[in-house]
Amino acid sequence: MIDVCDIQVMKPLLSEHGFHFSKAKGQNFLIAPWVPQSIAEQAGVDATAGVLEIGPGVGPLTQQLCLRAGKVCAVEVDERLKPILDITVGEFDNLDILWGDVLKQDIPALVSREFGSLRPMACANLPYYITTPILTALLEADCFDSVTVMVQKEVAMRIAAKPGTADYGAFSVFCQYYAEPELLFDVPPHCFLPQPKVTSAVVTLRVRKARPWEIADEDTFFRAVRASFAMRRKKLSNGLASGFPELGKAGAAEVIECAGFDANVRGETLGIPEFARIANEIFRRLEREGK
Ligand code: SAM
Repeated sequence: MIDVCDIQVMKPLLSEHGFHFSKAKGQNFLIAPWVPQSIAEQAGVDATAGVLEIGPGVGPLTQQLCLRAGKVCAVEVDERLKPILDITVGEFDNLDILWGDVLKQDIPALVSREFGSLRPMACANLPYYITTPILTALLEADCFDSVTVMVQKEVAMRIAAKPGTADYGAFSVFCQYYAEPELLFDVPPHCFLPQPKVTSAVVTLRVRKARPWEIADEDTFFRAVRASFAMRRKKLSNGLASGFPELGKAGAAEVIECAGFDANVRGETLGIPEFARIANEIFRRLEREGK
């Protein structure tokens, strides 16, 4: 197997094929072998797993996944990588490469077509310019056991942040609604070619089998969460009144009181059960008033 993390190997391979890194496609390739190895190991990839990889690049993580998984399906947007991947991962017969934009894929259909009865997982060193839409699509697809990704460290901290901390926001609630995140390890810039400006981190999201909250309406729940963080420095009632104009200012204040919170409560201190109480109160009130 070609060691694609060895820059003495990788650089001539890239120049032989006239390949230039595309910043627009978020191409920072791994050149530290411990990183893809640790991602595949700590994600718990084994022969029972069907792994969706996003953005194989020249294949360092793909190799490690193929060595362990029952099946790997890698989605790559940059077709210039085709002849290189033929060389670096062509030997694996448990690998399918799909050429195209991952955001245009029907992920649940892909997973059932590619993985059958295998345990579906997602694993990737994500292109950072579309981290949020990719993670959103993977979690909303609701078909993975776990999602293990390398992202900017700052994003990893937001994904795993607890209520009342500076990193906690609507994206933390979104991720923690679907999954239980755990920060695994940091990856410094010198592990990539070219080097990114920021430190990266690997985070695993274990998808919840059941969500232990009673939520009357998911749309209202996420709308309430977004509204609560949209005016972070203000009282929750201001955020709710602006996110739900149909409630009005007085209605927003009543919602907070009826849900059992102090009038001065701030959204950034609330966890998912508390947001659920507020969203359920809003939903019932709007339904009652026919709005
Ligand atoms: N996995 C490789 C590694 O770790 O060295 C490459 C990771 S690089 C950060 C991100 C990869 O995602 C690139 O290969 C890039 O071409 C690919 N990519 C960017 N946008 C994509 C998209 N919309 N759909 C699929 N792949 C994409």
